[in-house]
Amino acid sequence: MPIQNTVVIGAGQMGSGIAQTLLQSGYSVALVDIVDAALERGRSSIESGLTRLVTKGRLTDATREEALRRLTLSTDLPYAVRDSDIVIEAAPEHIATKQATFAKLDASCPSHTILATNTSSLPITSIASVTKRADRVIGMHFMNPVPIMPLVEIIRGLATSDETCEAVRSLTASLGKTAVEVRDFPGFVSNRVLMPMINEAIYAVYEGIATPEAVDTVMKLGMNHPMGPLTLADFIGLDTCLAILETLHEGFGDSKYRPCPLLRQYVQAGWLGRKSGRGFYNYEHEQ
Ligand code: NAD
Repeated sequence: MPIQNTVVIGAGQMGSGIAQTLLQSGYSVALVDIVDAALERGRSSIESGLTRLVTKGRLTDATREEALRRLTLSTDLPYAVRDSDIVIEAAPEHIATKQATFAKLDASCPSHTILATNTSSLPITSIASVTKRADRVIGMHFMNPVPIMPLVEIIRGLATSDETCEAVRSLTASLGKTAVEVRDFPGFVSNRVLMPMINEAIYAVYEGIATPEAVDTVMKLGMNHPMGPLTLADFIGLDTCLAILETLHEGFGDSKYRPCPLLRQYVQAGWLGRKSGRGFYNYEHEQ
């Protein structure tokens, strides 16, 4: 069955970016969150994302308006998914939250609906295990910011069918993005490679080796990274970075993935990076 009606669960930075990308490509999107204010923030971020494209001449005013008419917002998950062809979940990076959401989705969605998760690191196979449709559960890992980044990591769980994988590959291509298929192990490829670097950068600050600015400058000017690792960590969200490192640490049982105590302390303080106004840098003036 061709994919037309899509649902995105979680209206945070990833969910709203995924919703915007789907709208730009002609899909209908129901955006679901448990917090009304998050839905309003999501809508406003989608509106400004589409307006930026109009300013750049990549979208007309009329197409922007038409795309926004295909967006609905809801806190009622069972109602929002009743006609869905695919649901893409982008709730916080906790296995209990994802499993509870997938059990609810499995009970509420039509039988043909594909259930995809945007998890950064959690096992697709464990998320699929709480449903009766493990063949139609898959990882669809978008990169941040979604409307700009061209990669989607596709992760098959142990029971994911070829049909599901093909449908998600073709959806990815229709969004103008490139799919790379990887196997279901903690952190997949992207975060298995990225997070140890971010963690090591945090250790350099924790041990007093250098300031965040100095660490980022070394990696930008010395390694030609477009953004330093601490700026990137603030952008991803320090709570998400900590959750991914914990998944890597627990999943591989290898101490090389142990999260830096400074990262843990920042998260305890509510310093989550750009989204909370403070992380390794201060963004309060931008709020
Ligand atoms: P976020 O904190 O910006 O947003 C999460 C949203 O989910 C919030 O609006 C929250 O209200 C909502 N939420 C919480 N519980 C919910 C539930 N039970 N049902 C529906 N909505 C719920 O987080 P984010 O950065 O958008 O990350 C979301 C997911 O995407 C995580 O799994 C994360 O690992 C993954 N991811 C993040 C990045 C990144 O750079 N931040 C990149 C790729 C993937």
